[in-house]
Amino acid sequence: MRPVTGRGKLRTGELGLASKEPFLSLLYLQVMKKEDIITLPNAHLRQKSARVHVVTDDTKQLIEDMTSAALDWEDSRPHEISAALAAVQIDKLERVVIVRTDFETKENRDFTVLINPEIVKTEGELVADYEGCLSVSKVYGKVPRWTKIRVRALDETGQPVRFKAEGFLARVIQHEIDHTNGMVFIDHIKDQTDAFYTLDENGELQPLDYHEHIENNENLWT
Ligand SMILES: [Zn+2]
Repeated sequence: MRPVTGRGKLRTGELGLASKEPFLSLLYLQVMKKEDIITLPNAHLRQKSARVHVVTDDTKQLIEDMTSAALDWEDSRPHEISAALAAVQIDKLERVVIVRTDFETKENRDFTVLINPEIVKTEGELVADYEGCLSVSKVYGKVPRWTKIRVRALDETGQPVRFKAEGFLARVIQHEIDHTNGMVFIDHIKDQTDAFYTLDENGELQPLDYHEHIENNENLWT
């Protein structure tokens, strides 16, 4: 799968200034920002997204918008990386997901695109580990996920792809496919009193008091 390089495309546009109205079209180009990412209690996050039947220029624009928003969010966070994003998170209810090509470094800003992603098979075991979400402010959780999965999807050109994923990548893909089905990570741990955390100013996860911050938090559950 070829990574998406939204920024590269923008530069190509700027080089193509020989035509008549490039300045105008550049002026109207709106770049998605972190403010375009919707957060709970926005009810759209609990709605199912629609399958993509044909990959069009609109789909490509959607992917660019998702990439811009995810990177803008990351640039505002000292301790976190934008590992992935689902289209619903910029309020487009389509089954499109972008996943960071390299989780280890912020320098590599490429994402891999998965359209209509599905888990064909789960393998290994269920292991609980920490997760956060760009659409859930200040709340983190220890969520059980399958350690190995087999995935079927379309790539950004509409070609079918199948692959295996494990570890953190498998976790991220399960989190994103949940988004396409209207599920948020906290829904998996709704009743677990010891599974919720917040991030302190040093980037350390600290346990949250379930009864005080989670159980009756209208932002999370309405
Ligand atoms: Zn998320």
